[in-house]
Amino acid sequence: MDLNLEAAFDEPVDLSHQFDFPAGSLARPELVSLSSVSFSGRLERHETGFVLNGRVAFDGVTACARCLAPVAFRRASETSWVFAPAHEKPREDKSAVKTDKGDPDDGLELNPEDLDVLYYNDLVVSFDPLVEEQVQLELPLKALCREDCRGLCPMCGADRNLAPCACKPPSDERWKSLRTLLDPGN
Ligand SMILES: [Zn+2]
Ligand SMILES: [Zn+2]
Repeated sequence: MDLNLEAAFDEPVDLSHQFDFPAGSLARPELVSLSSVSFSGRLERHETGFVLNGRVAFDGVTACARCLAPVAFRRASETSWVFAPAHEKPREDKSAVKTDKGDPDDGLELNPEDLDVLYYNDLVVSFDPLVEEQVQLELPLKALCREDCRGLCPMCGADRNLAPCACKPPSDERWKSLRTLLDPGN
């Protein structure tokens, strides 16, 4: 989906769209499946550019970080993108970049200095990469099927939630010899 910033030049524009990102395209091997990503929001003028405020929502299934069992998740987040014309992009010269005080006449709560500003040359902006970035931020990082998941045995691969296996972690032996060294009388 392309954002036509110019459409909001005279008055705010309400937008909604469903995005489909194939789970395999997100470079997240633990992700099993992902629903369509729904976006709804409002594009309006902001200072010399535009701001898009909206809500990104999706759900999906990911793999438990310990035992690989499927874990369902659901996400919804409010987000904002600020667009400013490219000619306003601050130069590398740092002294010119920041001022501590926002514009006191700015009626919006949004302070663009707190956000990443997207500088445009063209009033038509590709929106998909921006939504995909938001999805990446919201995807669960280390989902667990349950807090006390025992995970898979690193030795034999058995699911230790189902039954304990007979393997002994190799570190046990090392600790034993260390204990003998520290306390020879034992
Ligand atoms: Zn698990
Ligand atoms: Zn085992």
